[in-house]
Amino acid sequence: MRRQLGIFLVFCWLLLPACQKQVETLHLDGATMGTTWSVKLHSLPDGVDPVQLKSQLQSQLDSINRLMSTYDPESEISRFNRQTSGDWFAISTETAEVISLSLHLSQLTAGAFDISVGPLVELWGFGASERGEQLPTNEQVAEQLAKVGYQHLQLRRAPAALRKTQPLLRIDLSAVAKGYAVDLLAESLVERGVDNYLVEVGGELRIAGQRSDGTAWKIALEKPLEEAREVKTIFPLTDTGLATSGNYRNFYIENGQRYSHTIDPVSGRPIRHRLASVTVLDPACARADALATALMVLGEEKGQILVEQQQIAAYFLIHEQQGTEVYVSPAFQKFLAEVN
Ligand code: ADP
Ligand code: MG
Repeated sequence: MRRQLGIFLVFCWLLLPACQKQVETLHLDGATMGTTWSVKLHSLPDGVDPVQLKSQLQSQLDSINRLMSTYDPESEISRFNRQTSGDWFAISTETAEVISLSLHLSQLTAGAFDISVGPLVELWGFGASERGEQLPTNEQVAEQLAKVGYQHLQLRRAPAALRKTQPLLRIDLSAVAKGYAVDLLAESLVERGVDNYLVEVGGELRIAGQRSDGTAWKIALEKPLEEAREVKTIFPLTDTGLATSGNYRNFYIENGQRYSHTIDPVSGRPIRHRLASVTVLDPACARADALATALMVLGEEKGQILVEQQQIAAYFLIHEQQGTEVYVSPAFQKFLAEVN
């Protein structure tokens, strides 16, 4: 996974009012994918030990990282990235699941979401290597763009395998893997009989049931501020995945122009529009994560068309001359109305 450069757009309000009866909230946490994970629950089924649960969740995350990290040279993805032949390369069912979702979303978003965008992420200085002194030239962009394109990636499900039709194609699952990890942890909890939980990996979330005081989980969305952390809005949520993508934390400014870590795979350049952040709700956090990134690429106009056509629950914060404007998709409004 790519390093998490301090982007933590969403967090939850868990403080119980002092007058309420004391109900324990169990909090487990740890580190994964260059960021942190946490789980909040208020009751554990009989026979489930919290210390054991924490280590089981951690090992689940460690195995996902061993499959999908681009920082681990021996991960499944890193080994596939080094292969230049067009031969089938056997992969795990977990990686196949993430890639299948990613390819589906590439089609749905006309290539705005593309897990082969890594060479451009690297070129623009958001990858593992240091950013160059100069901005990339048109020639350099064209050279890396030639290696990019989800159409050059083929997935086979049984037995699970991948192949590339462009020898230099590489995969980077940074925009979807955190959401996938959230889903796995949530499924693990459900299998153990836990039905009220909040699971979070690097700011992406999945929520079920309620808090320990019987009220809904409450989610705070940050204002798109570069230096400060202020709450834009808080809303109650239940039974959903939630992911946010933004361009106000992981970026640099060169010649007065902002360059953010979200790359438009069509132009080969960082996005340049007024969309500051996108939050998506979806039962699957992996899908919410990928869609949030895709909508950041599409921008506010094309993004609104897609969310309305596909009934995606999305919340946009749009930079204006003064402050920010908000767009809430009909599906997002419906979700809020149902919880309230
Ligand atoms: P974050 O990782 O900060 O939560 P995202 O989920 O939006 O944010 O993922 C951003 C990362 O995804 C980038 O750092 C880059 O590695 C990768 N990426 C950038 N542009 C795209 C794109 N168009 N499609 C898929 N992945 C992308
Ligand atoms: Mg994402």
